[in-house]
Amino acid sequence: MTSIETDVLILGGGPAGLWAAVSAAAEGARVVLVDKSRCGSNGPTVYGSTTLWDIPPGRSRTEAVDRALRGGGGLGDEAWLHRMVDETHRRLRVWSGIRHRGPDGADGDPPVARLDGASYLRRLRRGALEAGVRILDHHPALQLLADPAGTIVGAAGVQRHNKFRPWTIRAGAVVVATGGCAFLSGGAGTEVNTGEGLLMAAEAGAELSGMEFSSAYGLAPVLAKVHPNPAVAPGLSVRFAALYDDGGRELAGGYPAALTALADGRRVFAALHEVPDTVRHWLSRHGAVDAVGRVPVRAVLTGTVAGAGGLALTGTDCATTVRGLFAAGAVAGREVVFGAAGPTGGPRGAWALSSGTWAGAGAAAFALDAGRADDARPVPGGGLGPHAHLDPRAVIGLVQEHTLPLRRSYRRSAGSLRDSIAELDSIWPAARYELGGIGAGQVRARQAAALLAVARWAGYSALVRTESRGIHRRVDHPEPAVGWQVGQRCGGLDTVWVRRCVAAAELTASRPATV
Ligand SMILES: Cc1cc2nc3c(=O)[nH]c(=O)nc-3n(C[C@H](O)[C@H](O)[C@H](O)COP(=O)(O)OP(=O)(O)OC[C@H]3O[C@@H](n4cnc5c(N)ncnc54)[C@H](O)[C@@H]3O)c2cc1C
Repeated sequence: MTSIETDVLILGGGPAGLWAAVSAAAEGARVVLVDKSRCGSNGPTVYGSTTLWDIPPGRSRTEAVDRALRGGGGLGDEAWLHRMVDETHRRLRVWSGIRHRGPDGADGDPPVARLDGASYLRRLRRGALEAGVRILDHHPALQLLADPAGTIVGAAGVQRHNKFRPWTIRAGAVVVATGGCAFLSGGAGTEVNTGEGLLMAAEAGAELSGMEFSSAYGLAPVLAKVHPNPAVAPGLSVRFAALYDDGGRELAGGYPAALTALADGRRVFAALHEVPDTVRHWLSRHGAVDAVGRVPVRAVLTGTVAGAGGLALTGTDCATTVRGLFAAGAVAGREVVFGAAGPTGGPRGAWALSSGTWAGAGAAAFALDAGRADDARPVPGGGLGPHAHLDPRAVIGLVQEHTLPLRRSYRRSAGSLRDSIAELDSIWPAARYELGGIGAGQVRARQAAALLAVARWAGYSALVRTESRGIHRRVDHPEPAVGWQVGQRCGGLDTVWVRRCVAAAELTASRPATV
């Protein structure tokens, strides 16, 4: 058993976790960051180029915020958006890693900083090490530690590269930055986004927000030859400029029109000449190009990674509803900035940077202020038993059947949601108590339990919101409803609950209504 003491523990080393680590260290805290893979070498950002909104004060900033508020169906918060844009712009001005800035809104789009994703993460990792952050790669976190009052005081997990020996890290505060949950759909880099951070936090009593906005889809080429290592799939992160129907007519509505066509059972294609040379060769090699030189595409669920659902935030320091626990990046509820939308590119990068910065500083302030509790116990959780009585693949298969298809998450109805909830609920007790194992088996069991928990929160939340807004689409309620201009909270494990927030900026929890 490896035991470490620190001030701030960061779980997850994507862009949000790395910005959080640097920010906490800048406040004078001792910081340890654990990642289940190699920090800075995985996750969706590592594939292709990444963009971050980088908008100076002035008209373009006001216009970008207004557009984001409209796109979010009126659920976003103007003050949070302005704060996010301002923090990102100020940080990027002094950060040495910027390679290329987009034109300052000349084409009507907000200005962005464009970076190669892999170099961006490498540079952030180097910056964190230079700031004194201790980075522990291949250290999946499996559960949180809490003191008798329920305050989070660390986490525990295993070391992948060291025969799965256990580790325990005691900390004054913990930042969860484990990314969103994409249900192992095959989207580039999302194989690490399996929801354990959400599950660990919920087991400690954390609430979630906006989980009905977890139905974001992207497009990926249909591959005739599947690569033996699905992580090596640069083609999957391509954003196609133009899309066509079977008859060669361009789909004027872009991605939404393509998803509608695919949901209707029609075929959609991207033109090969529009993708960069390196990607074109890769697509040809993998059998993604048809006889007439087009690339057939399919819908890929990006879930909460590109949606807005996640851990509910209670303040501008990105504290969650559990004392001592902070959230950053795609694991955090982003309704406050994106509302009901699943934005692409720039805003998401800005959120990872700014929420990481705030969560790191918030956790450092909390840790340096709080006294250290003597007693720390692991928070019990699903799938952590020593024996494997249930195959995680069975659980994951069921979860995918009820989340990945467009008919389940893109076109929802009360009937399909009730059906999914009933199936997923029926396997929960077995998943909670009979998933388990040791070593790699324990890590897989925990992932399966997390995927199931996230699918249930998303399904329950989508059933309660009887309207269509942003990326939440109900075929039985196809329009936005006036009374629904509010957010939702949810949580619970054996019994999932959902309740409306009385106001979008509601900060405290009241008695939940059970669905
Ligand atoms: C197809 C696609 C394209 C995208 N393109 C862009 C873009 O162009 N620009 C942009 O800004 N954003 C883009 N995004 C969104 C991007 O994913 C997020 O902005 C960003 O990755 C969020 O960063 P994060 O640090 O919160 O999470 P992630 O980048 O997902 O990082 C999470 C980290 O946590 C680790 N982790 C997970 N679970 C555990 C655990 N139990 N214990 C320890 N470590 C754990 C993972 O290994 C990973 O390193 C895209 C997303 C998708 C799906």
